[in-house]
Order: sequence, then C-alpha cells, then structure tokens
Amino acid sequence: MSEFSIGIDLGGTNLRAAVVSREGQILDRHTALTSISQGRDAVIDAMVGAIRTLRDRQTGRFAGVGIGVPGFIHLEKGYIFNSNNLVPLENFPLRDEIEKRLGAPVILENDANAAALGEKWMGAGRDVRHFILLTLGTGIGGGIIHHGRVLHGEIGMAAELGHITVVPNGLPCGCGNVGCVEKHASATAIAAMGRLHGLGENITAKGVYELAVAGNDRAHMIFEHMGRSLGIAIANLVNIFNFPLHLLSGGPLPAWEFFAPYMFEEVKRRSYTFRHTDTRIEKAALGDLAGLYGAAYLPFLSQELGSR
Ligand SMILES: [Zn+2]
Repeated sequence: MSEFSIGIDLGGTNLRAAVVSREGQILDRHTALTSISQGRDAVIDAMVGAIRTLRDRQTGRFAGVGIGVPGFIHLEKGYIFNSNNLVPLENFPLRDEIEKRLGAPVILENDANAAALGEKWMGAGRDVRHFILLTLGTGIGGGIIHHGRVLHGEIGMAAELGHITVVPNGLPCGCGNVGCVEKHASATAIAAMGRLHGLGENITAKGVYELAVAGNDRAHMIFEHMGRSLGIAIANLVNIFNFPLHLLSGGPLPAWEFFAPYMFEEVKRRSYTFRHTDTRIEKAALGDLAGLYGAAYLPFLSQELGSR
C-alpha cells in the first residue's frame, strides 16, 4: 500500500501544507492564513483543519505530520521556545496538542533544519552525506546535515548560523549580539543597507539588485559587503566542519554574480581547508519548497530510525 505524510511550513502570515509520498512526490497542497493575531487556538485550528482536509483526500497509509517552525524548538518537549513571528505559540505543548487532535504522530523541527533535510532528501544535497544550508531571508537560517541527519545539539538549538559574528562592532541583532551575519547578508539587511546608503526610503532587496544590474555603484558596494560578510561566516564553517558542500537559498540568490566573487574571495583568504580541498559553495535546488519536503520527510525518517 502506498504511504504518504504531510509536511507543514508554518510562517507568521500563512501556513503551507503538502502531501508527499514515500518516494518524495508532492501529491496535494493546501495554503491557509495563520491568523496569529487571533491567538493560539486559531492557528492550531487552521493547522489541524489543513491536515484533515489533505488527509481525507488520500487513500494510502498516513505516516504522520512534520511541522517546520521559524524559531528555537525544544525537540524533546515538542514546543517552540522562542519565535519572533509566532509568540502566542511559545512555551506550549504544540506537538502533543496536535497529536491528540489528529491521533497521528507529529514532529516539530526548526524551519531551516527542515529545509536542509528537504535538500538532503530531494534536492542539491541528495548525494552528499554532510552539508550545510544557509537560507537568506528576513534573517539567515541554518541547517547542518551530518551523516544524512540534522545536527541538533543538546536540545535542538544548534545551527543558528545567522548569528555568527562577522563584524565585531556591527549592526545590533534581535538575539542580543551585534554584527551577526544575518544583519549584514540577509534580504532584510540588503534592504536596510539600501536605505542607509540613500537608495530610497522604501527600497527592497530586489530594488537594490535592480540598481546593481543598472550599474549603480552604491548597490554594488552593498553586495560586496554582503558577499564578504557571508564569506567570513562560511570560512568559519569550512574551518570547523570540513564539509564538502555549502548551499545557499533565498531571495538574494539572483544577485549571485554581484556578491559571490567577494564571498569566494573571503572564504579563500580565511580558510586553509577551503584552499586545499574540493569544497563547494552552491545554490540550493528546491527553493521555497525545501521546507515542505523536509517537514514531510520527518515522519518517514522517524520510522526508519525507529525500525533499526
Ligand atoms: Zn544575532
């Protein structure tokens, strides 16, 4: 009998859900508003509703649900520790509550970890045992895949790679540090630097990219700074892990030609390992579907591990 799972990518404004077969084929999809302002129950209702709708349209065996969440996860307890966008869900036994309502296994995971797992299962990391994914968005998320599995650390908070310091006295970050790479190389950071350098009060990262294409010097300078910041962070990762592959995903990727040369320059300068090994830094393959694939893979992975 065919088997399927449901992956959920839970964001601050909407949730995306997909039915994925054991073979990794997306069979069905559903999107719903997260309506976080209406409180915890409204979000949980929306999630459970989406899962039931999708489940009832399938005939195969239901393996369970994986949920990718932006924030710090306490894996063992199954709740969200801290999340900028989903505050009403914090410190609440989210996994157990949804399991109870569905009568099916539920697994929570950090969204960037889920995206890395998705790239491992069906994307650019398929043939690699160890790699790192950096997602460049509002912030920078990180996922570390080691021996084909997510590296979690003690309670599930490892791979907060967006908070690697790249500028000792740089821009303040919500985490309490200054000069975190996500403050210097995320999409939000590109837009903020655009404003700072007089490219317009409402400039977006895409707007800065378009100016770079048109030959604007300040836009080029911003991508140079972004590329160097990213390169410093990646050099640290190469030096620590000696992994063969580092993947980048997210909105700023079309600007690759503007930032990547500086990124590679910094990684070369700062990493002996990079200079002397075959270490790749490449674009991820699945785009914004990576998190859905990874979330959907969680129940299958849990079965595999459980049956050993
Ligand atoms: Zn930070």
